[in-house]
Amino acid sequence: MVDAWDRGRGPFSALTLYVATVTFGGLLFTLDRVRHLEPADLRMMGPAFVMAAALLVAGELRPLFTPGSRDSNGVATSTTFVFALLLHWGLGVAILMQAVATVVADRSNGTAWWRTGFDVARNALAYGAASLVLVAMGHTGAPNAPMTITGADLPAIALAGLAYVVCDNVLASRATALQCGERLWHVIRADAAHQALTTGALLALSPLVVVVLERSIALLPLLLLPLFAVYRNASASLQREHEALHDTLTGLPNRRLLLRQAGDAIEEADRCGYQVGLFLLDLDRFKDVNNTLGHNVGDELLRHVGERLGSVLRPEDTVARLGGDEFGVLLPVIRDQAAAEEVAERIRTALTQPFALQEVALDLEASIGIALYPAHANDVDLLMQRADVAMYHAKEARSGIEAYDSACDPHSTQRLSLFGQLRRAIEDDELVLHYQPKVDLGTGRVSGVEALVRWQHPERGLLPPDTFVPLAEQTGLMKSLTSNVLEQALRQTAAWSESGLSIRMAVNVSARDLHDDTFCDRVSDALSRTGVAASMLELELTERVVMADPQRAMENLTALARLGVRLSLDDFGTGYSSLAYLRRLPVTEIKIDKSFVLRMDVDDEDATIVRSTIDLAHGLGLRVIAEGVETAETWQRLSDLGCDAAQGYFLSRPKPAEVVTDWLTARDNVAAMRVVGSRRPAGRRSAARG
Ligand code: C2E
Ligand code: CA
Ligand code: CA
Repeated sequence: MVDAWDRGRGPFSALTLYVATVTFGGLLFTLDRVRHLEPADLRMMGPAFVMAAALLVAGELRPLFTPGSRDSNGVATSTTFVFALLLHWGLGVAILMQAVATVVADRSNGTAWWRTGFDVARNALAYGAASLVLVAMGHTGAPNAPMTITGADLPAIALAGLAYVVCDNVLASRATALQCGERLWHVIRADAAHQALTTGALLALSPLVVVVLERSIALLPLLLLPLFAVYRNASASLQREHEALHDTLTGLPNRRLLLRQAGDAIEEADRCGYQVGLFLLDLDRFKDVNNTLGHNVGDELLRHVGERLGSVLRPEDTVARLGGDEFGVLLPVIRDQAAAEEVAERIRTALTQPFALQEVALDLEASIGIALYPAHANDVDLLMQRADVAMYHAKEARSGIEAYDSACDPHSTQRLSLFGQLRRAIEDDELVLHYQPKVDLGTGRVSGVEALVRWQHPERGLLPPDTFVPLAEQTGLMKSLTSNVLEQALRQTAAWSESGLSIRMAVNVSARDLHDDTFCDRVSDALSRTGVAASMLELELTERVVMADPQRAMENLTALARLGVRLSLDDFGTGYSSLAYLRRLPVTEIKIDKSFVLRMDVDDEDATIVRSTIDLAHGLGLRVIAEGVETAETWQRLSDLGCDAAQGYFLSRPKPAEVVTDWLTARDNVAAMRVVGSRRPAGRRSAARG
């Protein structure tokens, strides 16, 4: 409970004032009581005192943690012994020993000095209250006149215990209440039952300790044995609880514990008006590490990632491993979204520092989704779900970090209505295709077109694919979307063919398509229905599409290739498929992602990536096409580098069929390309496949 105070302390806040007052008063009181003790008292108390003092310090150093308890400080069994000292030898001895034990334990835990001071003072005042009750009821003990206990003393002892519990609780809760700006009563009530039970049980043991002190230390084992059993039991159940709540590989909290802590954080946030942040983090390349370097390296990497995450967060934040390469981060207190994004950025930067593993250095990229309570969700489950949506979005957009945005959420109402409309739109033929030409850099001839889908929405106009393709992907509409696009594209190919234009048609396919066992048959059916030869169809798939389920994807790809359909690897360079793997795929072409091509004129690093990708693909016998060619310079450079084909706004934007038909038939256009293309220096290395 006390840990939360660190957050609310300014130099002159009410909390600081309160803590200072209690500390000052309590310490003065302690000094006053302890002043009366004489060395002679110590001698009088003898070995019994030494034993009690030793047990007391041990109890303070090894607090008892019980399963299910939310109190991170545990329960100090020293309470039993201090209260026994109070009963037997009076307040001075009790306060002195409590102070000594607190200082020793706090030093070994590295607790802040002001906290130690406050705890010593608070305890002194609470034992003072208990002592007041005892004295009032005529029970006084002192070193030279120890109190003995009979059954008749129990009511007075019970009342004194009650005074201690109430006073201690009020003093601590008041600080928490000040810090959260909350009513004292609410804070006390939140923890009262647990406190009363545990502290009550510890205090109930004290009279027995007194009996041992007064009769014979030889009776001590009778007392210690059950205490020892309680410790052992608690630590065994604690071990079981730990296992149930932690990930075995990394030792980090698991999903269950993260959810539980998020629930606690939300409760606390409600009381204190904080925001809570939840991140979901997914490593972008982890599968490849496992596939190429083996599971041992993968496991080691995960452990390192866990440690690295912990090292850039505050101690009160939680890092959990949720399974596979997915981690969760809980920030129990966060100012706002900008602050959360800063933390996420710090995490991403930390992961890009290379990890040294069994002689290889790996750096990682991660996609992080952020959701905040209460801004984005009003309970734990929803918070988790929204962080997941945000992470999915970050992965899709390759932006690395995204905070939850209802516009990108397939479950949000806005998207739900769009989902309903999309299903109908596919049936009602509202999807239209635009076509973008691809031109052969060697000959300047059009080598094909790519079909790119748009939605002619009755109210919102022409919608670009990124507003609805991901939605279709997430909601099971992809199958009908792809079928619709395939059908339209092939009909257009047939129409062009009839008018004498022999143009190869490229269609984009998604992960859902490739992991559907009927996909190959559907393609085959569409080809025979439209009378288009399989060799006139090209399917573009991204690395991510393949890597999502390599085994199944491979089966489908092999079947498609056998059919005679050409396969092209889209967005190349943005995924991380290993070269060894790429060689096994039956693709004939790779498409360098536009992010590299767009920047190759201004960024040497991107130009290098493009150059080495071209060399590498040619080495593997693959054709290379560059997408996103916007300028004549890029066109020329690609041509010089030996790239086989290009596509981009410089040639043509995607256009409706009629416009593209005109473009294709306009010989001038093609000739112009040929002029630029012919400036290529001699001796260019030719593509291995055409
Ligand atoms: P993609 O397959 O990588 O398509 C290329 C995108 O880059 C297209 O965006 C195209 O208009 C754009 N582009 C072409 N040349 C240039 C250029 O020179 N500069 C710039 N800045 N951009 C250029 P579009 O049409 O918005 O499509 C976006 C994505 O939507 C596509 O990326 C593809 O992943 C998806 N998509 C489009 N149609 C379909 C479809 O029928 N099925 C599936 N599964 N996905 C589709
Ligand atoms: Ca494409
Ligand atoms: Ca692309």
